[in-house]
Amino acid sequence: LASKLPAVGTTIFTVMSQLASELGAVNLGQGFPDFDCDPRLLDAVNEAMRDGHNQYPPMAGVPALREAIAAKMEALYRRRYDPLGEITVTAGATQAIITAVLAVARAGDEVIVLDPCYDSYVPNIELAGATPVRVPLTPHSFRPDFDRIAAALGPRTRAIIVNTPHNPSATAWTREDMLRLQELLAPTDVLVISDEVYEHMVFDGCEHQSAARFDGLAARSFIVSSFGKTYHVTGWKVGYVAAPAPLMAEFRKVHQFNVFTVNTPMQHGLARYMADPRPHLDLPAFYQRKRDLFRQGLAGSRLRLLPSEGSYFQCVDISAVSELSESEFCLWLTREIGVAAIPLSAFYGNGFDQRVVRFCFAKRDETLRSALERLSRL
Ligand code: PMP
Ligand code: GLN
Repeated sequence: LASKLPAVGTTIFTVMSQLASELGAVNLGQGFPDFDCDPRLLDAVNEAMRDGHNQYPPMAGVPALREAIAAKMEALYRRRYDPLGEITVTAGATQAIITAVLAVARAGDEVIVLDPCYDSYVPNIELAGATPVRVPLTPHSFRPDFDRIAAALGPRTRAIIVNTPHNPSATAWTREDMLRLQELLAPTDVLVISDEVYEHMVFDGCEHQSAARFDGLAARSFIVSSFGKTYHVTGWKVGYVAAPAPLMAEFRKVHQFNVFTVNTPMQHGLARYMADPRPHLDLPAFYQRKRDLFRQGLAGSRLRLLPSEGSYFQCVDISAVSELSESEFCLWLTREIGVAAIPLSAFYGNGFDQRVVRFCFAKRDETLRSALERLSRL
């Protein structure tokens, strides 16, 4: 059988988690919390099930959840999305992104991604029959390079996928970055898929710069987020997308035939839980403390810490520790030191000249301490 995705193997996250579990290593590779969610959220889902919310919900999602999402976005980003026609609940951000790509990109179109990028984007674009155009972020500092983005824009550009806070680099776009993007796209009809799954993890008092805050971007954007990240329930696979009605109409044409709907009791439970904004408002401080604990623990090692402005990731430069490539180093680290990490090369096409690996600090303090103890040998 001729593969539709010949360059694709098993994702690095699956590979490293499997290896970590086989070897009993501390798994700071794949991004997921090793602690439980708020028991009130579990109660809310259980209540929803007992209340009989166990059949198909409306295709676009449970109305109360869509209303709660609209209220949260309005409170944070000062833009009102109509829950009826502008918000859809998805099976995680992963489904939101591929559905948006399939809805807008076709053969002959180009879709820009900024390298390094989350590993599903490029295969998503290829499955749509469109051509991915990889534009590098600035070397070492991972900032958007607007001259290179401008040079990549052309008559065939259908969309650009942006991601802030950024996986894997843990950088976050500034207001000026968003204004530059808005200005650059103003004369075009290029759409934006804005992956904002780490919207509630921005540190040091900075604010998340959602595309929803900017009129010119919001008008052309699918804004994607994920309850898995925000409420520590990555296994639930519930997320959402917000977009202006004409874009959402196209999104739903695809959504109804790839998942149709997302599980009902979780949606009801999430809607009830979202009535209290504290869980997402408290998240930056919660993760900043873990980030700082992890950074302080590494300060004495020869791993060079890169900035972590947002997300639950910390990248380190391994040059002073090892001659190995990023991926060989991650295998060695898992086997010999007992800590799993993710090589940045997994997020690139060809061509990168740095030696950086990513750790996830969404872990219990004792997990982080145990990893730090092992890493202190480096
Ligand atoms: N985008 C980014 C940048 C991510 O890091 C992730 C999760 N690792 C996703 C999308 C997918 O989110 P979900 O688990 O909700 O499908
Ligand atoms: N998004 C998570 C990460 O970057 C992993 C999700 C997955 O395993 N697909 O680590």
